[in-house]
Amino acid sequence: MDQQKLKSLIEAVSAAILAHADELTELDQAIGDGDHGLNMKRGFEAVAAEADALSQKPVGEALKAIGTKLVMTVGGASGPLYGTLAMAFGKALPENPSRADVATAARAAIDAVGARGKSQAGQKTMLDVLEPAYASFADGAKLAAVAEAADAAAAATKPMLAIRGRASFLGERSIGHVDPGARSSALLIRTLAEHFGAVS
Ligand code: ADP
Ligand code: MG
Repeated sequence: MDQQKLKSLIEAVSAAILAHADELTELDQAIGDGDHGLNMKRGFEAVAAEADALSQKPVGEALKAIGTKLVMTVGGASGPLYGTLAMAFGKALPENPSRADVATAARAAIDAVGARGKSQAGQKTMLDVLEPAYASFADGAKLAAVAEAADAAAAATKPMLAIRGRASFLGERSIGHVDPGARSSALLIRTLAEHFGAVS
């Protein structure tokens, strides 16, 4: 991936999180402690501030550095999980990856999140978006369809019962609200899909 493309991708992801920070906060106010928007904004602003230096690295190294930065800056439960996702993705991604390489790396990254969070799909977390988006991508779907799958999966967390994370403390009262981390994962996936769909 060329440097300019990597830089614009980092900036697009950060801009998407910034544009939806209030929405993520509102979702987390309903079933968490109301910090998810701020956590994500802080982390992705820190990443965007280093977009120049990050984009000079090979994509795998850049992702590892982004993951480290997210762990240091996002905080909450989601910081270590998104940090792990980016670090594991970067570790598994070869230089000039094919679509199959991206799918393999995404699988490794999602598995690392599950190991770190002791979680799996079905528990009303970010994994309820990451897993179906991965399945769609690995199945060969167009990137626009992958983004649609991610959005639909985030919306589908609304009737679910939270079994992991802070929302699980609410028990049945977690039902009826979209999971904040599921929503932020869908935003990240849509931004990546739109970027690659439009530019490459
Ligand atoms: P905190 O819950 O510590 O305040 P955030 O509000 O930033 O952290 O993030 C909450 C989101 O993190 C949840 O909506 C959920 O998607 C995700 N999450 C929390 N715990 C886990 C877990 N064990 N596995 C996967 N995702 C999780
Ligand atoms: Mg929170």
